[in-house]
Amino acid sequence: MPRFDVVIVGGAAVGSAAACFLSLHTGFRGSVLVLEPDPTYTWCATTRSLASVRHQFSTPGNIRMSQFATEFIRHIGEHLAVDGETPDVGFREAGYLFLAGPQGLATLQSNHAVQRDCGVDAALLAPDALARRFPWMRVDDLAGASLGLSGEGWLDAHSLMQAFRRKAQAQGVVYRVARAAALLRSGHTVTAVQLEDGATVSCGTVINAAGTGAAALARSAGIVLPVQSRKRCVFPFHSPEPAPRCPLVIDTNGVYFRPEGTGFLCGVALPEDQDPECFDFEVQHALFESVLWPALAHRVPGFEAARVGKAWAGHYDVNTLDHNLILGAHPDVDNLLFANGFSGHGLQQSPAVGRALAELVVAGRFETLDLSVFGWQRVLEGRPMREINVV
Ligand SMILES: Cc1cc2nc3c(=O)[nH]c(=O)nc-3n(C[C@H](O)[C@H](O)[C@H](O)COP(=O)(O)OP(=O)(O)OC[C@H]3O[C@@H](n4cnc5c(N)ncnc54)[C@H](O)[C@@H]3O)c2cc1C
Repeated sequence: MPRFDVVIVGGAAVGSAAACFLSLHTGFRGSVLVLEPDPTYTWCATTRSLASVRHQFSTPGNIRMSQFATEFIRHIGEHLAVDGETPDVGFREAGYLFLAGPQGLATLQSNHAVQRDCGVDAALLAPDALARRFPWMRVDDLAGASLGLSGEGWLDAHSLMQAFRRKAQAQGVVYRVARAAALLRSGHTVTAVQLEDGATVSCGTVINAAGTGAAALARSAGIVLPVQSRKRCVFPFHSPEPAPRCPLVIDTNGVYFRPEGTGFLCGVALPEDQDPECFDFEVQHALFESVLWPALAHRVPGFEAARVGKAWAGHYDVNTLDHNLILGAHPDVDNLLFANGFSGHGLQQSPAVGRALAELVVAGRFETLDLSVFGWQRVLEGRPMREINVV
């Protein structure tokens, strides 16, 4: 049976970031295997993501992870060059704009206070200031807004993931096209990973980076991971009217839009009671006509004549307890690390989480950014650490 010091299950953004940071960690000399069944990355959340980075969270840990992402991505050429070739992930720093009506203003202001304490470069704007900055936007039903002035934006998710993967491979990490079927456990230890074809790989540490496949994998080791797959549809559209300097706008009803190429992307999360666990990729086409288009045309009158393009569906790995990442070891199993339940913000967290996983493997603790609040403790105690700014 082959043996690797670290076996990473799932080789998209998070698994590849972990592999990469591990291979670059000065204290690590071991072998790393990444198991990934889909080398085209057609179905994973990473490829289907909106690929945006924001600092405007309500939880300091989330803010700090995204601040690290911005710094890392700004200098990605220095971090992830291979043979003199520097990756380009097309990071465009155009900001997020959270809108608030009278009822949402207090939350916007309290989130802003948390963000200011963390050094986020964002400004609260009154409706008249908003109208001056974005004259194409309707503001008469708004009480305020919060605009990210630097550090936030969007990028090419596939390029970021491939940059991690290429660097990891250049550092000696092995990728194998295979699906993990089960984790074989003896007492408090995972001894091997069983593959779908029945083969087994013996392991030192296992990292669960299987996205929406994470709960099934955890179950095979006897652990209940409160993570469900929830469908999210993204609709591209074109507008004959321009919206200059458009940031990623989050409207009061959760509808979001941002520019992409010569057009825009938009979407919305349905309320919890209409958002069941789901693994199919069927686009909910009616969503555009019934929810998105009216909301877009209300907020930006120029979008009245929007033409929708070819939409796609992907899945969030939602932590049903509190919409926040679950990171690190479960107390029942010493050598199994989790990085799951990203709930829609895992792409931007992949650099910080990849680095954190490498630190947990090598040092058994967080060496740079302390992410212990994202550990299993709160999950096992049923004590949610709710992220209010969920998109
Ligand atoms: C529509 C949409 C929009 C989003 N927008 C944003 C955004 O703007 N910003 C942001 O930060 N995040 C966003 N996200 C979330 C983000 O894409 C994810 O949180 C992030 O990509 C998670 O990365 P991952 O590597 O953990 O999971 P994934 O990308 O889902 O990858 C998991 C991998 O594990 C593999 N796998 C699964 N089971 C097994 C198994 N048993 N054995 C081996 N391999 C396995 C899969 O093949 C897959 O490649 C969005 C997601 C969606 C769907």
